[in-house]
Amino acid sequence: MQSSFDCYIGIGSNLHQPMQQIIAALDLLQTLPHTSLIKSSHLYQNPAMLAEENATPQPDYINAVAWIQTTLEPELLLKHLQTLETQQGRQRTEKIWSSRTLDLDVLLYGDLKIDSPSLTIPHKGLLERAFVLIPLCDCNPDLILPNGKVVKDFISDDMKQQLTRI
Ligand code: ADP
Ligand code: MG
Repeated sequence: MQSSFDCYIGIGSNLHQPMQQIIAALDLLQTLPHTSLIKSSHLYQNPAMLAEENATPQPDYINAVAWIQTTLEPELLLKHLQTLETQQGRQRTEKIWSSRTLDLDVLLYGDLKIDSPSLTIPHKGLLERAFVLIPLCDCNPDLILPNGKVVKDFISDDMKQQLTRI
């Protein structure tokens, strides 16, 4: 039998009823083969990250994190996640951080470290982003981060002030 891994999926949306997009994505994650949803975080609203200072403002994001267990290999998991993004109307552009109906990122995959052209795990922004760390902590406050710290101890008051729980 293949072993199952604990994975954390970052979920974001800032287009076409973002809250509904996140709820739909949480439902769809439960339909992935060889995967179970263990827990989902609260939903949070936060301002969009802009690629440059003068970039056109974007609608706020709704973000959440899902804790799943899966036997899908990382690349196959990514493929499934991208299919779900497309199913929910995601249009891919060359621009980074452009508005999207759904973004599904693999934040952590067990203790695995991957640095391939298509997949970086742990996810690059993991330790800097309040909208990732705070919902991650909802899912599993005792989770050990890649920097060796326990997620609940790593979250600062400053990070908490950046997000609005909805
Ligand atoms: P972002 O989430 O940074 O805004 P995109 O969702 O547009 O970017 O994804 C761009 C590419 O990032 C994807 O085609 C995927 O191959 C790559 N990628 C690298 N690491 C990851 C990861 N951990 N989770 C999801 N996508 C990743
Ligand atoms: Mg993404």
